[in-house]
Amino acid sequence: MEPAAALLELQDADLGVTRTGRELDGLPEKKAILEIRRKTREVQALLDKTHAYAAEVGRAVSRAEDETSGLDAKLAAEQKRLTSGEVSDHREVQHLTREMDSLRRRKDKLEMETIALMEKGEKAEAQSRTIVAAIAKLASDEQALVERFKQAGSVLLTRIESLKARRASLAAGLPADVLAAYESARETKHGIGAARLTDGVCGACRVELPADKLHLLLDGPAVAECPMCRRLLVVHLPADTAAQ
Ligand SMILES: [Zn+2]
Repeated sequence: MEPAAALLELQDADLGVTRTGRELDGLPEKKAILEIRRKTREVQALLDKTHAYAAEVGRAVSRAEDETSGLDAKLAAEQKRLTSGEVSDHREVQHLTREMDSLRRRKDKLEMETIALMEKGEKAEAQSRTIVAAIAKLASDEQALVERFKQAGSVLLTRIESLKARRASLAAGLPADVLAAYESARETKHGIGAARLTDGVCGACRVELPADKLHLLLDGPAVAECPMCRRLLVVHLPADTAAQ
């Protein structure tokens, strides 16, 4: 194929890929998938927070249990001193008894605190399980949506695949410099890298070219550059020559 004709077809194929991609993005399933992914991220963040809270409560329970063991040991030691008979002084016995009472009060308070902490921990665990189940439900919903999206989009996906294959074979047939100029213009100029010159008007920027510039173009090669928008401009097609 003539580079001029191939270039225009390449541009058509690329626009087709973009348009079909937009159609694909516009499918309601796509929006629903994005929404479900956003929700999953939110719920996952909540799960992380709940795990962190449960771990913190767990550490507090361990500290309280350690302190309780320490108090138990102290109480046992003092009880032993009392019963061993080594403390015989009345005042010392009184002092020891008071101290043991105070230790027992501290221990009781600590046990109440531990119970309250454990309840908090259990609540956090239950919340984690609920969240994990919600995440699993979101994942299966997402999977179902992805399947529906694939079905709904399969015609569009097939069209994109065939357009891409077409563009690859057209691109392979173009001179390297023409292809490079086209790609770079397409990248910087909203997806349009080449256009046809029709009745003195560039098909991309729609500017009617000044007569002197137009004459230069018409006397030049089949593929030139639009003096206005700098995209590749197909000035002549083989069909034009055949028609003359
Ligand atoms: Zn132009």
